[in-house]
Amino acid sequence: MDATESRSGRLLGALLDFAFPPLCPGCDQYLDSEAPVCAVCRGKFDLYDFAFCVNCRLQVGIWPECPSCGNDLLPLFALGNYVDPLKQVVIEIKFRGILRPLDLLANSLVETFGDRIASRQADCLTPIPLHPTREYERGYNQASELAHVLSHRLDLPVADDLLVRTGKRRPQQMLPAARRAKNIRGVFEALDYDRGGRRILLVDDVVTSGETVREAARVLAQQGHCVVGVLAIAHGV
Ligand SMILES: [Zn+2]
Ligand SMILES: [Zn+2]
Repeated sequence: MDATESRSGRLLGALLDFAFPPLCPGCDQYLDSEAPVCAVCRGKFDLYDFAFCVNCRLQVGIWPECPSCGNDLLPLFALGNYVDPLKQVVIEIKFRGILRPLDLLANSLVETFGDRIASRQADCLTPIPLHPTREYERGYNQASELAHVLSHRLDLPVADDLLVRTGKRRPQQMLPAARRAKNIRGVFEALDYDRGGRRILLVDDVVTSGETVREAARVLAQQGHCVVGVLAIAHGV
């Protein structure tokens, strides 16, 4: 984008903000600053400073194995608990295309977990893909948008061509925990033209039971890749 385009883009943005002042995605109040989320909502985020084991969902440090479940460690670095107002911000990102908070959320995630994420020595970030039809309807994949913002902060490339979603299933959050593993099984395919061996950080907006990221990790492992962690905005039930 040249300077004229970026100036006209900024002017258009300023005019739109004047005509339609942006609302805080957490509480729907008018924003009186350039911040993407109001200070009240930011103050109410239930933030984490610890990682979770994706397998047993208990808090973990960074060891080769989870001391609770004994599985190879798959740490989840999530910014906070999936409750309001963070939950409302995630919903606005996902369903209404309000992407402005992503910068703030990615920065906070890296501020809290940057060292621990770096210790996983990943080669790339891979967003959990949407089914192509759903991505076409929505116009974007929120996990991919988050991965691209994180890519700059973590200095890691986005590899969004390793995994595709071939099956259409019911959203995991609509199902009881006991049915989620079966619902997600076989939904992804790893693309086999890529030679394996990459250390991958998966990126998703919300991780709940962990079945989706575990299934993605399983499929990627069949191509010789190793998922070494998961990054998400929120962790919920
Ligand atoms: Zn707010
Ligand atoms: Zn565990």
